Amino acid sequence: MSMTREVSRLGAAKDEEIGMEKLDTPSRDIPIAIIGGGMAGLSCAQRLNELGHECLIIDRGRRIGGRMSSKRITHQREQLWIDQGAPKIDVHSEVLREHAEEWVSKGKARWLTSHELIGEPSMSAILSAMSLGCDALSSAEVYSIRRDDNQFVLTVQQYGEETPFLISADHVVIATPAEQSVRILEQSGLIVPAALRAIQSSTAWMLMLGLSDIDLEQDWIDIQGTDDDPLQEIRLRRQSGGSYAIVAEMKPQLSASLMAEDRQVIQELMLSSCMTALNRRFGTPIASSQCSEPRVHRWGLARPLTQVQAPFLISSELDLRFVGDWLSGPRGEWRNAEAAFLSGLSLADHISNTR
Ligand SMILES: Cc1cc2nc3c(=O)[nH]c(=O)nc-3n(C[C@H](O)[C@H](O)[C@H](O)COP(=O)(O)OP(=O)(O)OC[C@H]3O[C@@H](n4cnc5c(N)ncnc54)[C@H](O)[C@@H]3O)c2cc1C
Repeated sequence: MSMTREVSRLGAAKDEEIGMEKLDTPSRDIPIAIIGGGMAGLSCAQRLNELGHECLIIDRGRRIGGRMSSKRITHQREQLWIDQGAPKIDVHSEVLREHAEEWVSKGKARWLTSHELIGEPSMSAILSAMSLGCDALSSAEVYSIRRDDNQFVLTVQQYGEETPFLISADHVVIATPAEQSVRILEQSGLIVPAALRAIQSSTAWMLMLGLSDIDLEQDWIDIQGTDDDPLQEIRLRRQSGGSYAIVAEMKPQLSASLMAEDRQVIQELMLSSCMTALNRRFGTPIASSQCSEPRVHRWGLARPLTQVQAPFLISSELDLRFVGDWLSGPRGEWRNAEAAFLSGLSLADHISNTR
């Protein structure tokens, strides 16, 4: 089986977006296919590359990054970076700290506190640094997987194209949220491991907007919602031009109950709660002329509510390998972005040791 699609090698980051340098790819087979280019898939790919193993990341997103992607908006002729998923990484393990120090030394991240790391100017800078040199196919959804003799065959649907195509690989790593991994297995007619099926994720509505003509003296401000607020947290981050990027997250239970609600209704609810909280905190009313057009983003799968206590999962049926933030390490000590990072890294070492 051969692959004749155009693959991008993730190149030097331009304006901190994940750069896509087009590669001429002749027909070829893939030694290791990684489904999902979020933190887990990228840490796996980066490590495999370091260890000399060729791999290809396939992601259904227009850009890789998953739940650590950032958005760029223009507000009053200033470009603002907004993290629409994770705004920071809690660093507890020595392994992640070593990588974090490297990102900091390259100007891609900085320490907010002794253990909280943020991307510079946004989280996508970190993922961009991790992805350098990795091969990736974006806007391509893996629909199903089957085994043909000694190879896996992936059915992939590239957005904008009518017919799916096939990619063959010697090994497959599934680096998607647990529920999306279940979906791929079900679409493939494969058995879903019970531990995987048991995972459920929270949901989250996010509000994003820019704020200008205000001097708040701090670069980063966290405002916690009160008990009566619909918002759990509001974060303000000063941008290089002086404006602030604001991201507000709705409380998880309320988000879950409003997942099917109309975007406009959500936007109005979140915006008015956000303005009330900002006025309460800073004491001066904010005029609408200071704010950019607000946007809302719905995360159907935000964070896993439970985890499997293992660094990665291997399905006995087809020898498929799974990584992600829903895996917690052998002692259950990893959480969220750190869990995703360490899970991907552990599996890469395992693959390298067993090949
Ligand atoms: C609003 C929000 C706030 C958060 N805040 C924090 C925080 O403060 N600290 C923290 O540590 N963590 C936080 N998190 C969690 C953190 O973002 C995640 O734990 C981490 O990014 C998960 O990485 P991952 O690689 O496991 O999954 P993802 O980032 O979800 O990556 C999976 C990738 O798989 C792709 N994909 C899915 N299905 C397919 C398919 N069939 N074919 C091809 N591609 C597919 C997706 O497009 C995606 O890019 C937050 C998350 C959200 C949503």
